[in-house]
Amino acid sequence: MTQAYYRKTPQQALEAQNASAEGLSAQEARRRAEQYGPNKLSEGKKKSTLQVFLEQFKDLMVLILIIAAVISAFSGNVESTIVIFAVLVLNAILGTVQYEKAEKSLESLKAMASPTAKVMRGGVRVEIPSADVVPGDIVLLEAGDMVVADGRVLENFSLKVNESSLTGESEGVDKTAEAIDADQVALGDQKNMVFSGSLVTYGRATVLVTGTGMDTELGKIAALMNQTQQRKTPLQQSLDSFSAKLAMVIMAICAVVFALSIFRTGMGILDSLMFAVALAVAAIPEALSSIVTIVLAMGTQKMARQNAIMKDLKAVESLGSVSVICSDKTGTLTQNKMTPQKVYADGSLLEGEDLSLVNDVQRLLLKAALLASDATNNEKEGTAIGDPTEVALVMLGEKFGVDEESYRAQHPRLGELAFDSDRKLMSTLHDIDGVPTLFTKGAIDVLLNRSTHLLTREGKVEMTPERREELARVNMELSMEGLRVLAFAYKELDAVRPLTLEDENGFTFIGLISMIDPPRPEAVQAVADAKRGGIRTIMITGDHKVTASAIARQLGIFRDGDEAVSGVELDGMTDTELDERLPRISVYARVSPEHKIRIVNAWQRRGNIVSMTGDGVNDAPALKKADIGVAMGITGTEVSKDAASMILADDNFATIVKAVVNGRSVYANIKNAIQFLLSGNTAGIFCVLYASLLALPVPFQPVHLLFINLLTDSLPAIAIGMEPARKGLLDQKPRDPREPILNRPLLARIGGQGLLIAIVTMIAFYLGYQGGDAVMASTMAFATLTLARLFHGFNCRGSESIFRLKLSTNKYSVLAFLAGVVLLLLVLFTPGLKSLFMVAPAFGFANLGEIVLLAFLPTLVIQLVKLVCDARRGK
Ligand code: ATP
Repeated sequence: MTQAYYRKTPQQALEAQNASAEGLSAQEARRRAEQYGPNKLSEGKKKSTLQVFLEQFKDLMVLILIIAAVISAFSGNVESTIVIFAVLVLNAILGTVQYEKAEKSLESLKAMASPTAKVMRGGVRVEIPSADVVPGDIVLLEAGDMVVADGRVLENFSLKVNESSLTGESEGVDKTAEAIDADQVALGDQKNMVFSGSLVTYGRATVLVTGTGMDTELGKIAALMNQTQQRKTPLQQSLDSFSAKLAMVIMAICAVVFALSIFRTGMGILDSLMFAVALAVAAIPEALSSIVTIVLAMGTQKMARQNAIMKDLKAVESLGSVSVICSDKTGTLTQNKMTPQKVYADGSLLEGEDLSLVNDVQRLLLKAALLASDATNNEKEGTAIGDPTEVALVMLGEKFGVDEESYRAQHPRLGELAFDSDRKLMSTLHDIDGVPTLFTKGAIDVLLNRSTHLLTREGKVEMTPERREELARVNMELSMEGLRVLAFAYKELDAVRPLTLEDENGFTFIGLISMIDPPRPEAVQAVADAKRGGIRTIMITGDHKVTASAIARQLGIFRDGDEAVSGVELDGMTDTELDERLPRISVYARVSPEHKIRIVNAWQRRGNIVSMTGDGVNDAPALKKADIGVAMGITGTEVSKDAASMILADDNFATIVKAVVNGRSVYANIKNAIQFLLSGNTAGIFCVLYASLLALPVPFQPVHLLFINLLTDSLPAIAIGMEPARKGLLDQKPRDPREPILNRPLLARIGGQGLLIAIVTMIAFYLGYQGGDAVMASTMAFATLTLARLFHGFNCRGSESIFRLKLSTNKYSVLAFLAGVVLLLLVLFTPGLKSLFMVAPAFGFANLGEIVLLAFLPTLVIQLVKLVCDARRGK
């Protein structure tokens, strides 16, 4: 059981600390920052640029290309060899640049999600980035914070920390037993240290920073195992394994083509080798993996701009499959702006402003509300700071001209049991006219069960079942209006002594204060949008069942026939019962964070991809268990941010739905880009196979294919990746996560469209080959294949026809097309490039006309088919 120790008042302890309690002056902090450097662990052995560059050549595909270059050299085609090597080097440079850029953008995302620390600077409490903490700073720790530096505990209020990142043990370490006073601080008691990387799971403390950055215990460990790991997303992994398989298949086909060319068509060895080389180069999707990474990275940047910070690229893919969003109520679905409403004390239910300070009970209620609360009114700015529930209490006091500061100065706090959402209570100890009095506030159901008496104007009376029922009835009446009801009670102690949780019993009940927290207006629309997209929204809250159901109804989450279940009821259900009732339960109320794991598990058992929000320390396991754990950027604890894969910069439910739409869009764009790249490659393979079987000359030189795969194909592929999210994305059901990206319909489209492009390419080849001119034939085939693939970029932007998609909605696709055309014209008509790309000298504008017509044909056919499909879909 956690014990709360208390030795001195904060003021006393701070005075004992004299000057240091003020914290460092801004000037001193700057000087120390220069002296000690930023409070960051060094990133470990980062790969050097040269290492990254050399790694680009480790690929099997690259090896095949090197072989191709060597063979070209042997067959006397030195230009091809040079171009292949040049392309390989260029590709490696691009790969390196892109790797470093991706690292940088990931770092900046990490920085956005990195912890902050509350410190005293020049006597003022300020929140600063953890990197700016310096030795000598006074850091204020609270439950949910991450300890960002090593330090000595100066003041301890039931502090409990989890040091698993250092010790590997997940059990919380109770720092309470080590509670010390300022005199011990002076002695420098080593036991009272907290270490960077630990998580505060309970209580609060002030800490004097003794070590930062690599000078911390964590830094020492980090120095030992200095390495950063690069993780690939499932999609990247499946594409990698696809590429590996493809490489094998290509080599096998190359061997067959080589054998066929020699034995069936009696071609020379070098010519046959050139076929094999052409085939290998045609088939290898050189740009595929970079394009996927680029599209994923662009997706995360866009999401960050829309307040959803993805900590993990993997999560971007999973987002598109989310089918259940479990969301906290307060602050996420509601505004977390609590305003006091009706008050109940001494048998009467009143509007807040009708409270009478002449009535002893009502006066004590207000006193309890202001003393057992940490919120303060900022007179200068006219705003209140603190937990919104407590802010509402300060606002109520303000209505009566009662200043919480003077109340608190009259009755200083002599001890406290901090609020936590498991207990749903908070207690503080004060001296009231010489009597140590414990004031407690919290959930009515919890407090009512612990109250033995009720305060009336006649004094304390016994809490009879009838009185209990009357209070429950009033609570029900208020809750049905969607109001949060907070109960207040007190208890007189025999002496000022350390508090234990056992003290929170045997209370005298004072009364109730209700408050309203209106739903966020945008949440109503977001819930409806999610529903349209086949995504179920579930409310999970620590609030009362009736209050929660009323708000859920206003938001469209709770509908007729739905059920609301409380944490206690959930405990009484077996897994089988829960599985049976799960689809009907829309609201879980009075749940503790532990229940969230059970809810996530239950939905996952039904095959759903679950997103779960959380802000507290105890939410971390559920955030980890969920497929997409979502933490709150503003109100969330550092622990929850650490466990989440997505952080909401605005704590807003609507942002989750937006992120899901973006996730779907990114996935669809990647799929379209893959379709584009692979269908173009398939066309090349068909052409080479056809020519080798019919003993025709090689239709393409390796340089041709590299030019297409790396240059003219990459541009439209990236443009497809930048396709804006379609409105229709929310009309579809969530994607089945088990379905592979290269599913049958996609493979059929790749094959069919590849065949169309191959047919026109070979027609162009024959046109050029009329006079037996192999160079002209190859030039025609190359130019047609390039242009047909550029046109094809428009087909792969989406499933609908271009008339529905409209050219103007993705300007990048038009720019990519134009850039590709310019590059092709340069190759076809610039003298130097002409010879490098083995373009027939006689190639002229008449030929250009032919290839334009031929290259446009596949797109015409594909668009006509799409038009028919559009009409069938009735759009
Ligand atoms: P969410 O919907 O995000 O779970 P919540 O605010 O409804 O948030 P908790 O913060 O866990 O859930 O609060 C649970 C209950 O504890 C509230 O319904 C209220 O009765 C009580 N409570 C909330 N804040 C305080 C507080 N500062 N002091 C005492 N009791 C509180």
